[in-house]
Amino acid sequence: MLFQISEKLLRVMKAFAEPRVATKDIVKEPAHKSPIFRGRHVIKYEICTGCDACNKICPVDAIVMKPLPIKRPNKIPEVNLAICIFCGLCEDVCPTKPEKAIKLAGGDIEMITDGTHDALDNFWVRVEVPEEWIEQKKREEEEKARKRAEMMAKKKAEAEAKKKAEEAKKKAENAENKEINNNANNESKKEANENKGDEK
Ligand code: SF4
Ligand code: SF4
Repeated sequence: MLFQISEKLLRVMKAFAEPRVATKDIVKEPAHKSPIFRGRHVIKYEICTGCDACNKICPVDAIVMKPLPIKRPNKIPEVNLAICIFCGLCEDVCPTKPEKAIKLAGGDIEMITDGTHDALDNFWVRVEVPEEWIEQKKREEEEKARKRAEMMAKKKAEAEAKKKAEEAKKKAENAENKEINNNANNESKKEANENKGDEK
């Protein structure tokens, strides 16, 4: 009897000493991690083209495209993790190479919150695009547009010069042909007059 009591006591004391899942701080340390866990999305605005493919393929409409005041990318994805099913299709379809602009490679424990309904808003992967980066992109786009306009103007001027040269050449050829014809006519007339003189 005494032995059984001591055995039970020992078991209880051991259980107290062991770390228990229910008392773990799961915000800092996950209780478990699935072997197929993909992690939250990591979105790189620097390489995203704004093609919208990730948004179009998402089966649960978890992606919202945030507009940007530049041409490329003119929009960037943000993900509502509260409805995302972590299928990974957005990553699969993303066309950027060698690195995907959207991939499920983020951490896991930061997705755990205190669990209130308001906390659902924390389940978004937001993308903060720095103002300086946008300004830099705008300058690059302006420079590209300026160079494109310059090239177009140059091509137009070259095409006009070529057209004028061809017209001048054609005009000169026509004038030459006209002179040859005139000379030939004059020769024929002269020959005819000489023949008439011989007949008399
Ligand atoms: S992982 Fe799947 S469900 Fe989640 S945002 Fe990407 S495509 Fe949508
Ligand atoms: S993250 Fe990829 S698929 Fe989505 S808009 Fe950007 S480039 Fe396109």
